[in-house]
Amino acid sequence: MVVDLHIHTTASDGSLSPEVMVEKAYNFGYDAISITDHDTVDGLIEAIKAGERFGVEVIPGIEINTEYKNHEVHILGYFIDYKDKLLLEKLEQLKKFRIKRVKKMVKKLNELNIDIAEKEVFSISNGGAVGRTHIARVLVDRGYVESFSEAFDRYIAIGKPAYVKRKRLTPEESINLIKKTGGISVLAHPALVGSEMIVEDIIEMGIRGLEVYYYEHSDQETAQYLELADEYNLLVTGGSDDHGPGNKDGLRLGKMKLDYKIVENLKRCINLSVI
Ligand code: AMP
Ligand code: FE
Ligand code: FE
Ligand code: ZN
Repeated sequence: MVVDLHIHTTASDGSLSPEVMVEKAYNFGYDAISITDHDTVDGLIEAIKAGERFGVEVIPGIEINTEYKNHEVHILGYFIDYKDKLLLEKLEQLKKFRIKRVKKMVKKLNELNIDIAEKEVFSISNGGAVGRTHIARVLVDRGYVESFSEAFDRYIAIGKPAYVKRKRLTPEESINLIKKTGGISVLAHPALVGSEMIVEDIIEMGIRGLEVYYYEHSDQETAQYLELADEYNLLVTGGSDDHGPGNKDGLRLGKMKLDYKIVENLKRCINLSVI
């Protein structure tokens, strides 16, 4: 039985709807997937319904984008209670901060003589959690850059001229919020954090797992984080971080088929927490 526990949809910066993503997962032969949109659970109900229809187990998930010591730290949450009032309130706030921040970033780009409009960005995000990927899409479509990575490297990565901080949860707040809603927190793509010291800090904050198996991890990185997970007795998860075709390097679904044991271990961990 195979799983992929890191997938984005149109609820954040993926290019396919939750329903289409589940259908694709079915066609690729997945038994379980998790939808982990950035800072939102808005795609989960549609995905879970589609999962029931196609016979694919859809694990409710989220990826909370935090910043820590000038590094991107993304915290995954699995088996969260996506109807929890406190969670929904916090996420609603984050959504508003995201909108404000995109407006500021567009202004900065305009000052750099890049003539794009807010509404171009919002028409792509279409009500979902709007962010830098949507801005990158506009920059590519309008010919200002040739690729997503060029958009980030020249303009919108942390420290670049059009980057604007937005209010985010801290890693600690995210870990606690996930815990409070009955979920399990996992540090996403540890190699992309870009600092082993920060990874260790996050472990000290009480993260429950590491996303060891990740599309962009080299074999050496996978081995390194497997060892780290073992050392600190952390759960091991994995996924493709699919954002649909058209984003970054295209559809990743189907390319990472991980053992269902990962899901069993997460479930066992939840049961232990309840006792
Ligand atoms: P945001 O949540 O708006 O700050 O945007 C963060 C998202 O942008 C990440 O989750 C990735 O999907 C994407 N991203 C971040 N850095 C890069 C990069 N260097 N190249 C392409 N996409 C990136
Ligand atoms: Fe993303
Ligand atoms: Fe991420
Ligand atoms: Zn992701």
